[in-house]
Amino acid sequence: MLDRLPRTIDPLHLADKRSVIKGELSLKDFGRLCGMLFDTGGNVAIELHFSREGRLAKIEGKIETRLQLICQNCLQPIDWPVQAPVRLGVVNSLEQVDRLPPDFEPLFVEEEKMPLLDIVEDELLLNLPQYPKHSEACQIQETDSRVPTRPEAGRQKRQDNPFSILANLKNQENPHGSTKK
Ligand SMILES: [Zn+2]
Repeated sequence: MLDRLPRTIDPLHLADKRSVIKGELSLKDFGRLCGMLFDTGGNVAIELHFSREGRLAKIEGKIETRLQLICQNCLQPIDWPVQAPVRLGVVNSLEQVDRLPPDFEPLFVEEEKMPLLDIVEDELLLNLPQYPKHSEACQIQETDSRVPTRPEAGRQKRQDNPFSILANLKNQENPHGSTKK
């Protein structure tokens, strides 16, 4: 599963050794993230460099993956490539957070060992939209949302319904107006 990557890491120890962790994690292993994904196939590529600057232990690197989020309008997949830099400073108090260099996020370490998966998952979640939605108008497929008993019946209904035409016109005029809640 975590081929060659350690399951837990000791950030301070790795920083002392100036270690590099590089490899891939399976998306399926990210419990919190999986609920937000249309498809949990695929991997997350990570590269993390541990080092020290004075008394500060740092983790710098990047995470890369391609997620399929679920559009909250039409429940269809949204392609969401993630290519995010990682800049973490290891801290164990709020005082230390204040002393972090700009651009660095705090990584609170309470115990020596912490799950690598959790660190990467937190970084991934930071790069997701709160309300995933297609940037352009959703293409809702009628066959998916309401299944007509017979194809003829479905076609007939559409021709006879002036409101669907009106709705389409409205959407074209004001693509954002109908999606607000
Ligand atoms: Zn959509």
